[in-house]
Amino acid sequence: MLNIPNENLPSLRFIKGVGEAREKILNSLGIFTIEDLIFYFPYKYYDRTTVLRISQAYSLVSSGLNEEVTFIGKIKSVRKVQTYRRQFLEIVLFDKTGFLKVIFFEGINYFQKIFLQDLLVAFSGKIQQGTDGSPVLIHPTFDIIKEQEGFDFQNTNKIVPRYSLRGISQAKTKAFGSHTLRNIIQNALSKYLSSVRETLPDYILKKFGLIGLIRAIKNLHNPENQEMLKKAQHRMKFEEIFYYQLLAALNRSMVKKFDESIVYKKVGENARFFIENKLPFELTEDQKKVIREIFNDFKSGYPMNRLLQGDVGSGKTLVALITALISVDNGFQVALMAPTEILAFQHYNYFTHLLKDIPVNVGLLTSSTPNNIRRKYLEMAETGQLHILIGTHALIEEDVQFKNLGYVIIDEQHRFGVIQRAKLKIKGRNPHLLVMTATPIPRTLALTIYSDLDVSFIKTMPKNRKPIRTHVITPEKRNSLYDFIRSEIQKGNQAYIIYPLIEESEKMDLEDVISNYNKLKNEIFTDISVGMLHGKLSSDEKEEIMSKFIKGEIQILVSTSVIEVGIDNPNATVIVIEEAQRFGLSQLHQLRGRVGRSDKQSYCILVSDIEIDDSRPLRQIFDLNSQKSIARERLKAMKKFSDGFKIAEIDFKLRGPGDIFGTRQSGIPEFKFVDIFADQELIELIREFTFKLVEEDPDLQKNEHQILREVIKYRYSYKEFLSNIA
Ligand code: ADP
Ligand code: MG
Repeated sequence: MLNIPNENLPSLRFIKGVGEAREKILNSLGIFTIEDLIFYFPYKYYDRTTVLRISQAYSLVSSGLNEEVTFIGKIKSVRKVQTYRRQFLEIVLFDKTGFLKVIFFEGINYFQKIFLQDLLVAFSGKIQQGTDGSPVLIHPTFDIIKEQEGFDFQNTNKIVPRYSLRGISQAKTKAFGSHTLRNIIQNALSKYLSSVRETLPDYILKKFGLIGLIRAIKNLHNPENQEMLKKAQHRMKFEEIFYYQLLAALNRSMVKKFDESIVYKKVGENARFFIENKLPFELTEDQKKVIREIFNDFKSGYPMNRLLQGDVGSGKTLVALITALISVDNGFQVALMAPTEILAFQHYNYFTHLLKDIPVNVGLLTSSTPNNIRRKYLEMAETGQLHILIGTHALIEEDVQFKNLGYVIIDEQHRFGVIQRAKLKIKGRNPHLLVMTATPIPRTLALTIYSDLDVSFIKTMPKNRKPIRTHVITPEKRNSLYDFIRSEIQKGNQAYIIYPLIEESEKMDLEDVISNYNKLKNEIFTDISVGMLHGKLSSDEKEEIMSKFIKGEIQILVSTSVIEVGIDNPNATVIVIEEAQRFGLSQLHQLRGRVGRSDKQSYCILVSDIEIDDSRPLRQIFDLNSQKSIARERLKAMKKFSDGFKIAEIDFKLRGPGDIFGTRQSGIPEFKFVDIFADQELIELIREFTFKLVEEDPDLQKNEHQILREVIKYRYSYKEFLSNIA
């Protein structure tokens, strides 16, 4: 069997067409086994079932038919056109039968670089009538065809898969294109597909009308037709949700077992001392309420499994700190996991600073902790000398062991799904778990992702806060903006200036940040101390810059969005976000949350060439789902709303289904097939089903459930989920 543990799995080299060099290339795509190869699915498809000749486009226009079709041809010319109102890119495509115009209004420079003369391209979209009456394709999807793939596709009339080559260097993609990968996968399928084992019990397949795994895999690589492709995707989607929810249900059922040894009996002397003498300010009502909720869970004899939702700046860290003290007072160690090194470092400072006069040992562990210190902390954790260990995902590594871990806190639930939670939890015996997040999530969505958690809220902000004033300005106003920043700094306040850095254009973006930094430092704020922070700095450098900024030695911090989550410098009162249209809405809100953290008036200034007061309808000529108009809506929402829940709601609406990138940023686990927004109903259906399944067969003992045990054991580490039911 291929997708079930097996010692003598044949290596990739057994596949026709794979030699040493190609094996390496496959490895860089994350493909190491034949199973990986067979489960490496296309990321999109081109429907060539309706490839038309260009001459047929004219009759389409006159018939008024409006279906998605494909044209394949060579590029004759590419030019930028400027009208009095806007600019666009006009491409002329030709085949033996005629010429067709293809228009792009956005990404003009990008497309101009891609679409070179004589390139063979397949364009798919709906034909529209241009201003001169001739047919045009506007913003079609496209597929650049390599000459060696030939014109064959014109005749094959099928759905063509496209595989991602992300991870392969540019130089290598020339010799190893999508079609090479396609051939290798075909070879693997013909030999090994039959060894793939079904991963869902028969009765579930029948109950939900799903096709078998082998058929699904086959159709994902070589769709018979659109209908079968849909069925195949549906089956994979089902499986993805099913196992996620099954793990959550098992987790939940574990939590339902009473365990006397994890009962915390008291608030304790350190916690009491801290609250009475060391609190820097009075707790808000909601902070008190949440601390009580957590303490009740601590006392209950059932391991806590709680999500704490509270908007940026609502004071979640203090809740973590006080409840951590309670845990230590009861003789249990605490692990606090943060999503970034900067944040872990900041928490470490916050804890050590506030706990200065309290006999509690706190450690910091990230992937860049020097080895000798790392060893010291590991030993202290193991012997129980270390009370609180703060870190990044380095905490879930195998060699991190605790003497008596009783409380796990995960801050800013980014990328920590049910699996990572479990990995940290098994380091203790049924420890209490608190997950803290500032990303407000609609209720149904929360059920999906956190279906194994109870939820607490902090709704009120600390009393001293003034609402942040948000403005959207165009780049021409930058000079007066700089004057404003200077006046804030003269008052003793500090500022952030943020530049976008996105994966797709990382190198260019980084260069921009650095050159802007140099300009700000050397030309504009010559009398002010300016520092720079970005992800490519070493962690020592990052820590040094953050400490200087917190201490006030750096007055203006120029940064990429690495500071997005959690960074706390209450003395900062201005955040400027450059090219604000390039950020997601939740991300903008998170960034804004870096200011307004004290009783001082704070400002968020979004700089963008998109004018938000422009009332001209943008979609007047063609019905484009314009990126620009969506960006404008985001900026408007920022100006209008400060409440995180409201912002989240708008964000989900604006994103629409399929925005994987957006999903990633909001801290929702990544699925390959599931669209967490569009598949809401399916998710709920499966959730109900799996929770019932676990209720009826909590140890997965039934015969028909053996396969579930095996898949969990194989795909996810066995002990993390089944140790208590093995
Ligand atoms: P978040 O919920 O975003 O993690 P933090 O825990 O970082 O927020 O708190 C934001 C800031 O507010 C910190 O500087 C923190 O010390 C401060 N703070 C926390 N609780 C209170 C309170 N009750 N009154 C005033 N300030 C508070
Ligand atoms: Mg925080």
